[in-house]
Amino acid sequence: MAAAAEAAAGGGPGSQPAAQRRLRIISGHLRGSPASRAPEAERLLSPSQCRAGGAAERPVASTIPKKRQEILKWNGWGYNDSKFIFNKKGQAEFTGKRYRLSGMVLPVLKEWMEKSLGASLEHKITSRAFLNTSDVPPSIVNEEFLQDLRATKISYSQEAEDRVFRAHGHCLHEIFVLREGMFKRIPDIVVWPGCHDDVVKIVELACKHNLCIIPFGGGTSVSSALECPADERRTIVSLDTSQMNRILWIDEKNLTAHIEAGIIGQDLERQLGESGYCTGHEPDSMEFSSLGGWVATRASGMKKNIYGNIEDLVVHIKMVTPRGVIEKSCQVPRMSTGPDIHHFIMGSEGTLGVVTEVTIKIRPIPEYQKYGSVVFPNFDRGVACLREIAKQRCAPASIRLVDNAQFQFGHALKPQVASIFTSFLDGLKKFYITKFKGFDPNELCVATLLFEGDREKVLQHEKQVYDIAAKFGYDFQGILFLICSVC
Ligand SMILES: Cc1cc2nc3c(=O)[nH]c(=O)nc-3n(C[C@H](O)[C@H](O)[C@H](O)COP(=O)(O)OP(=O)(O)OC[C@H]3O[C@@H](n4cnc5c(N)ncnc54)[C@H](O)[C@@H]3O)c2cc1C
Repeated sequence: MAAAAEAAAGGGPGSQPAAQRRLRIISGHLRGSPASRAPEAERLLSPSQCRAGGAAERPVASTIPKKRQEILKWNGWGYNDSKFIFNKKGQAEFTGKRYRLSGMVLPVLKEWMEKSLGASLEHKITSRAFLNTSDVPPSIVNEEFLQDLRATKISYSQEAEDRVFRAHGHCLHEIFVLREGMFKRIPDIVVWPGCHDDVVKIVELACKHNLCIIPFGGGTSVSSALECPADERRTIVSLDTSQMNRILWIDEKNLTAHIEAGIIGQDLERQLGESGYCTGHEPDSMEFSSLGGWVATRASGMKKNIYGNIEDLVVHIKMVTPRGVIEKSCQVPRMSTGPDIHHFIMGSEGTLGVVTEVTIKIRPIPEYQKYGSVVFPNFDRGVACLREIAKQRCAPASIRLVDNAQFQFGHALKPQVASIFTSFLDGLKKFYITKFKGFDPNELCVATLLFEGDREKVLQHEKQVYDIAAKFGYDFQGILFLICSVC
């Protein structure tokens, strides 16, 4: 590293002191290095100095329990109580009480499944209802490690269910394996550190006993990164971050919050909301995915047009690696000196270390939110409209073009209408779009929109976006309010 810095500075003998000074400054940004104790580093603002009064560390009761199996499906997405079933009349229903669709009959879903997926209800293949623990590979952990781990008092489990729950993410092939077979290799042991220092101890033990660690956040991975390599002979430790879920401080002056990495999205937004703040980071998986997982996968949120992606939101990351703890020595949002260590941590998917704490930008909860939608006769017209919106740099917080297949699926999820009036209105909307506007239901697509901010600005912004849509030749202004529920 020193040689590289000298070369970059010109390489001559005269340039050596300058290169060394520069190197000292750069390494000063990393906590724990000798340079970070230099006077310049000491003058930087520390989190405790800028902590806002009253926003001290709070324990957060996680929505997802340590024993994930108590409320989550073992072989699919989401909660045990929320699933599609067919009632005695053969109609699809969505069970549970958690969502707007819960407890509702979905009269057209069955037909959509038969037509679009070629699925037949006569041909029943029920997936296994329970995990058969005798199918699960045994846990191989050496006794010396277990003794050392017990001494730390860190919670752990070698139970089959705990290990299987952390052996996968949510790729289609992973869910298929759960339903039809079993993974060849799964974690041998699950550990639940309660804080950064616990993670340091676990990583030290892993180095001492030559074990490998796979960090586990919310388990929503779609990159197969949680799967254990089938030929891994070392003991595999699943390090579940779920018990590290406290908001450690909120800095209302600088609009940042310092949070343990295991907090899941829904808990984070709820807790921040109690203080009037939000992060605005909303990946579709936010109900279950964790802050550390977002960092480790360089996640993107659906409201990125206003709030940015995770790389725009992160101010500071603390990560435990086999070579020690890595973090910047200050909490400023941006520095011009040296490479940004955050950029190799983000997207590292647990291969370099365990992210334990993150400082993230926060904002006051927006005063006003407005949803909308625009219908296009086909996908190409939709793309053209969204391109124009992008060109004019006026995209709302969220804008998504839903293709015809997704549109049809959305339509198939429509619950039974409650009143004659709603049914009449739905018929009218359908008539307006397909007969009056002449849109082919098998071609049309929809853009869904979400505007956020203060009321006046949202209304202005909304008008700007709908004016662009209208330039594409559609009389959207008049029908916008009518079409929303067709989507
Ligand atoms: C239905 C669905 C919707 C999704 N929507 C989005 C979306 O809108 N945007 C998006 O970007 N992604 C999305 N994803 C993908 C996934 O949710 C993200 O990658 C998410 O960031 C993973 O977070 P997690 O906490 O679930 O991590 P996990 O699945 O537990 O882990 C993912 C990877 O990160 C590592 N990791 C986890 N925590 C840590 C940590 N503390 N330190 C170091 N490494 C760690 C793991 O080892 C693994 O390699 C979606 C996935 C699904 C199934």
